[in-house]
Amino acid sequence: MAAEIRIFTCLNDNFGYLIHDTDTKATASIDAPEAGPIAAALEREGWRLTDILITHHHGDHVGGVAELKARHGCRVVAPHDKAAKIANVDLRVANGDVVKIGNLLGRVLETPGHTLDHVSYVFDAEKTVFAADTLFSIGCGRVFEGNYPMMWDSLLKLRALPDDFRLYCGHEYTASNVKFALSVDPDNPVLQARAAEVTKLRAENKPTIPSLLGEEKRANVFLRADDPDVAAQLHMKGAEPSAVFGELRERKNKS
Ligand code: ZN
Ligand code: FE
Repeated sequence: MAAEIRIFTCLNDNFGYLIHDTDTKATASIDAPEAGPIAAALEREGWRLTDILITHHHGDHVGGVAELKARHGCRVVAPHDKAAKIANVDLRVANGDVVKIGNLLGRVLETPGHTLDHVSYVFDAEKTVFAADTLFSIGCGRVFEGNYPMMWDSLLKLRALPDDFRLYCGHEYTASNVKFALSVDPDNPVLQARAAEVTKLRAENKPTIPSLLGEEKRANVFLRADDPDVAAQLHMKGAEPSAVFGELRERKNKS
């Protein structure tokens, strides 16, 4: 069993991802920001689109679904959502469900907060997580529909994954996230190393993704809201981690 992953840009700063099972030739797109770049990537590889795995209802993640489904007849998998905001869905999934992409197994992890319907897809055998707009490299998504304790809880679920898992997130926001993180956590050597790496990658016009979860746990300040050093930096010693997280998120919103 072997998986190949392709990464490319959609819209302004969204990532497009294809995950391909070399045994069965099944191919899934993680979200569908827009049809064109996904169709082009499929053509480049000679892959046929069998599935789309949607993470949440925002337009920059579902905009290409109708066109791709019409063109490829692929199955569309989306989170359970009482408001049924996502159209063209064939299979609705909830926490713990396992979606088969050929022989690849994608486990559904509910990670609400950015939206209430947000899920991440975890491919345990491939040590890979697609976390869309919940966890970014050195950042996290804005909390639009949920609240800070809910989002913090979702980040803890992702943090519980092993260090050697690779994080594939929804947007190329890493440089801006690094700038903010350094303002809060300037003396963190793991963050400093990541900052240098990100500067180099962006100068070469390369994506900063994937990143290693173990590195995120040490360098991403949003995953460290329960670290007393981070609370102290914010003058919030002894505060609830979700409150520290909320303060970080609000400062980032204003940055
Ligand atoms: Zn979003
Ligand atoms: Fe997004």
